[in-house]
Amino acid sequence: MNRRSFISTSGVAAVGFGLSGCATTTSNAKTAMAPRRPRPMLQVAPVRASWDRIIRTTVGLRPHRDSGFVLKADRLDDKLLVHNYGHGGAGMSLAWGTGLMATEFALEHQARRVAVIGCGSVGLTCARQLQRRGFDVTIYAAAVPPNVTSNMSLAGFTPSSGLVVNDQRTAAWDAQYHRAYDIAYRQLQLLCGHPLSGVSWLDNFALTDRDPATSVPPSPDRPAPLPDGADTEREIFGPGEHPFDTKYAIRSAQIRIEPNIYLDWLMRDVVLFGGRILVRKFDTPRDLASLSEPIVINCTGLGARDLFGDKELLPLKGQLVVMVPQEEVRYHTNGGTHQPPPPGSLGIHMMSRRDGIILGGTSQRDVWTMEPDEAERKRVVDAHIAVFSAMKDVRV
Ligand SMILES: Cc1cc2nc3c(=O)[nH]c(=O)nc-3n(C[C@H](O)[C@H](O)[C@H](O)COP(=O)(O)OP(=O)(O)OC[C@H]3O[C@@H](n4cnc5c(N)ncnc54)[C@H](O)[C@@H]3O)c2cc1C
Repeated sequence: MNRRSFISTSGVAAVGFGLSGCATTTSNAKTAMAPRRPRPMLQVAPVRASWDRIIRTTVGLRPHRDSGFVLKADRLDDKLLVHNYGHGGAGMSLAWGTGLMATEFALEHQARRVAVIGCGSVGLTCARQLQRRGFDVTIYAAAVPPNVTSNMSLAGFTPSSGLVVNDQRTAAWDAQYHRAYDIAYRQLQLLCGHPLSGVSWLDNFALTDRDPATSVPPSPDRPAPLPDGADTEREIFGPGEHPFDTKYAIRSAQIRIEPNIYLDWLMRDVVLFGGRILVRKFDTPRDLASLSEPIVINCTGLGARDLFGDKELLPLKGQLVVMVPQEEVRYHTNGGTHQPPPPGSLGIHMMSRRDGIILGGTSQRDVWTMEPDEAERKRVVDAHIAVFSAMKDVRV
């Protein structure tokens, strides 16, 4: 079970390391045909998980809409107003894509001066896409990094996580999703290895007792799952081949975005390319009408609920517990416990970043408080302590 299995309990599309996909890998096909000799034990450095290594707990409110993000052009008096918000648990992943698509609406206007409202992942990447196409950009935002939701993300390439409820998807929205996905995935790949961007590839291990050979047949009642970024080769390590306590560890490559590095780098780039970032809060659309820019792009995330009265927007509250960084840990895990998460909860996950070992696994619908939930904190930390203390001692 991993956090992607959230889809089955909540109906909210979540990203997949869909274990069913593992059934088609070459190594698995070989397993089914003939027993093979176990490989040498996989060597990975253990996470030192304990309560006394915790350095902070963060809370963020994912901007979710059951029918998915809003990406459309509108008018505000004589201005062009483009909406680009509501990215759920996927706003670090999809933003370059919706940012370019928002820019395409702006390109239909003859003016080249734009106000971007919002300075999270969605606003910053949109600003860069605009600048690349010749726009003069000013970002206006009530808060800037590190004080935005985007800084509170994990953040892996999870382009469909907490994004949409499957039965609310439309063909038109799906088409927008597919295009945004393609653009964003390509863009993030190009940033991997950039010395300043904070974007890189990392091994992900899905830790499970479920035999990856037992695939779940597609259901004719359910819409086809959204592509979720888990399209790289999966390598299955069976019992005796890996140090984790579960029967299987399934390795795949996943893009990691380190939010604190990435968002700072984006802000510097916006300014480097002639942009301005101004701290300013808008209470009503009327306030926006007073701006001098003829084009306004709304990238306010959850803020769009009050600013534009979009009552479908609601938070999926998430919290992360951060432990002291461990440079030698260069992987990400999903799952690892022997029980499924309680109903409505996410499976646990760990991401190693330069600013810490990040433990996550919570999503609380329509919960607005920014206070950490102690019960969820205990569930996530204790479960990770159990996962990593049960690891076999494999020296690396
Ligand atoms: C625990 C957790 C884990 C996550 N993990 C992942 C992950 O692995 N991968 C992933 O892709 N995503 C992840 N996310 C989701 C991701 O963080 C969000 O989708 C993303 O931050 C949304 O970006 P945004 O720019 O729309 O919003 P924000 O970062 O909230 O930015 C909104 C901006 O708009 C401004 N604003 C709002 N209202 C107004 C107003 N009235 N006037 C002026 N300015 C305004 C704000 O000040 C801010 O600058 C995670 C989130 C959480 C909480």
